[in-house]
Amino acid sequence: MARMRAVQVARAGGRLELIERDMPEPARGEVRVRVEACGVCHSDSLTVEGQWPDLSFPRIPGHEVAGVIDAIGAGVVGWRVGQRVGVGWFGGHCGHCEPCLRGWLIDCRNLRIPGISYDGGYAEAMVAPAHALAAIPDEFGAPEAAPLLCAGVTTFNALRHSGAMPGDVVAILGIGGLGHLGVQFANKLGFRTVAIARGADKEPLSRQLGAHHFIDNATEDVAAALNRLGGARAVLATVTSAKAMAPAIDGLAVRGRLIVVGIDLEPIEVSPLQLIGASRSVVGHASGASIDSQDTLAFSALSGVRPMVETMPLARAPEAYARMMRGDARFRMVLTMT
Ligand SMILES: [Zn+2]
Ligand SMILES: [Zn+2]
Repeated sequence: MARMRAVQVARAGGRLELIERDMPEPARGEVRVRVEACGVCHSDSLTVEGQWPDLSFPRIPGHEVAGVIDAIGAGVVGWRVGQRVGVGWFGGHCGHCEPCLRGWLIDCRNLRIPGISYDGGYAEAMVAPAHALAAIPDEFGAPEAAPLLCAGVTTFNALRHSGAMPGDVVAILGIGGLGHLGVQFANKLGFRTVAIARGADKEPLSRQLGAHHFIDNATEDVAAALNRLGGARAVLATVTSAKAMAPAIDGLAVRGRLIVVGIDLEPIEVSPLQLIGASRSVVGHASGASIDSQDTLAFSALSGVRPMVETMPLARAPEAYARMMRGDARFRMVLTMT
């Protein structure tokens, strides 16, 4: 049997280790993807730290996968060997739970996530259900496509369903792996785009990415600054700190929404009065299904949205992961397999 290199975590809180194992074979309804690139996402820490319930080890992390189909299981329709595809956070739905029956596939109660429910993309190959695949347009090389499969679809899908209309004030809180894409999408979707980040040194890049306004939340009152612009129709919170999210709530316009995509285990502090007084809401948003990833890739190709990536070979996964966790990545670490 063919062998492959992969990076796995042997136990919760264990280190990322380079191993060699048998190449997986696709079962019925699955394809095997020869991985070309895999983004390193903050949510990979759920696997590395063993924070996801019922995680089984050893496990290969990675849910920002770009590659090429190299084997197809029985019963797969619509995909062929050689096709360029991606797999993101959405790694398959059950098709029989209530959200699935309502068509809300990302909310499937039995959602499968690459790198969590099954082995992910820190490897030369992985298998995934065919319905979890998104086609990659020719405009993108694998390292650029990979981050769009999680960071990209999460921000694009949240913004296009935010209720904001062209010309509305929309703020992106946090200019990192997600935020640097969020600012580009907000600009291309026609919003008056506000970047909120810690430190004035983030301003030039924020503006280069398409921000019309910049708020330094290390020194400025975020709510007051947003209110000077008329209040935000939506604030997309990409930071992984609940504490950093709360100050934006009073900067929401009437019926404005704080859309939470950054993961923290701490509570977001908000009073009922803050919400009721102006009919504001705080909502969570979970990336999107594979067709949303495909839309994200197509919109990015059309509009010129591009992730900024730092690549490292697979064997340097521990270094790439550590760099991402320290917040030093500019702006997405991507592992390359060749
Ligand atoms: Zn992710
Ligand atoms: Zn389901």
